[in-house]
Amino acid sequence: MTTTTEFAQQLASIDTLVPRDHKKVGKIAQAIYTRQIVTVVGVKTTAARFLPVSHQGYSNETYVDKVDLLGKTRAEFIGRKLKGIERRAHMALFREMLEAKQAQDWQTFFSGRFGKACTIPDGLCVACWNCSLFGGMEAGKGATFSRIRYFDTFSVEDTAECIQSDDLPEGMAIGNTVGEDLSVERGEASFHRYEYVKAGTRFPLLTIIESPTLLDVAGYLAAIKLADQHGYGKYSANHGKFETQLLAVSTGYPLFSVLNLLTWLENGELINPQEKLQFEAAVGEPMTLFGGGIEAVREALDEQFIAYLAALDAAPEQSKGEKPKGSRK
Ligand SMILES: [Zn+2]
Repeated sequence: MTTTTEFAQQLASIDTLVPRDHKKVGKIAQAIYTRQIVTVVGVKTTAARFLPVSHQGYSNETYVDKVDLLGKTRAEFIGRKLKGIERRAHMALFREMLEAKQAQDWQTFFSGRFGKACTIPDGLCVACWNCSLFGGMEAGKGATFSRIRYFDTFSVEDTAECIQSDDLPEGMAIGNTVGEDLSVERGEASFHRYEYVKAGTRFPLLTIIESPTLLDVAGYLAAIKLADQHGYGKYSANHGKFETQLLAVSTGYPLFSVLNLLTWLENGELINPQEKLQFEAAVGEPMTLFGGGIEAVREALDEQFIAYLAALDAAPEQSKGEKPKGSRK
């Protein structure tokens, strides 16, 4: 038995991702809680300028979110931002896989299988693989809970070293404003000044997936790679690129927090993640993968997506008030 097969035995069945038919609302993701869990741990390092901001605005200056924590002022990267970008990357990736495998465009497939073409964030179908994992709400139709749990994270380095700001001789960065009035001559107000987190800054990564299928885990790991290239934060067309090093993927809950990860990274104590990262399973003994084991899970994506399409095919078409298919535990 391969390590990935053994790992998958501690996860939820692919059938749990098949939407059920609701008498009133149509297709909707199954509300399942299997008690199984997967924890993903890693460290994200900025590969370019990065602007973590939790607010929208058109002012002429932008400041990085900061927080005082564990004796340092740190840049703050909120879980909601991580989730938004990774959700879109996950959707893009799966649509691409779908079109490569089906002789139809994703919109047609979605309409047939899930009742509508799912669009993030305002036109969610609440039935597809993405809505099942990240949750969703459709007015008048229903809601499905998010099974993925994000954690806010913070820079390992102090803002004094990792943020380019006005306190430094080079000053803040300068860009063009979005709302520039082109009828007037260019002046101070034509430009936009912003602080940014410098390349090489580290942020611990901790994410939990509840009732995970192997497809959820493999898809999430692949989505991180895509999101790193797409960019997080403001001006992500050319800012906010990351490199993510995955340290562990476990079927247990972490016996540590983002705060512990900050301290360990600071002290160089995660060189051998096996020694430091401890997990506890909700049921039985957890299985924890490192290095090549994690890579093998990510490589299972294609095969798991085929299994998912087969599970959708096996599900009855618009049944009339029948019990939903799937392993409710
Ligand atoms: Zn959807």
